[in-house]
Amino acid sequence: MTTITRGSCLCGNVSYEVVGDLRPICLCHCSQCRKASGHYTAATSAPISNITIEGASLKWFDSSTYARRGFCDSCGSSLFYEPLGEKRLAIFCGSIDGDPGVSIDSQIFVEEKGDYYATPDVKVVNQSELGWSVGSDDAG
Ligand SMILES: [Zn+2]
Ligand SMILES: [Zn+2]
Repeated sequence: MTTITRGSCLCGNVSYEVVGDLRPICLCHCSQCRKASGHYTAATSAPISNITIEGASLKWFDSSTYARRGFCDSCGSSLFYEPLGEKRLAIFCGSIDGDPGVSIDSQIFVEEKGDYYATPDVKVVNQSELGWSVGSDDAG
């Protein structure tokens, strides 16, 4: 049976559906994720072709020259991270409705973490190890 995962923003104006498996969750401690989310992020990802997004309040912020972040401009929820030209979309796990069915198994950019918290006990990887076909070794 094919897995269907649904998610939405805080106000409900933006919703999405993912058909098929999600990547295990990666934590990102980069300064941009911390600014955008208020702390560090936890994201899964899936092929863009498997994701259907609805909602006119979804807006995209170009957070760097190679990536953009999707958020709801009604409630401010952070929803997506998309390296440009990539065929996958990262989905911030807090927006998933119910159980995502995958767990945290890695973290990136620990060198940019804030000094007000300890890193969780999961393996540190490079962004290039997360299944992106393009991308960067720089945070964004
Ligand atoms: Zn919203
Ligand atoms: Zn980040």
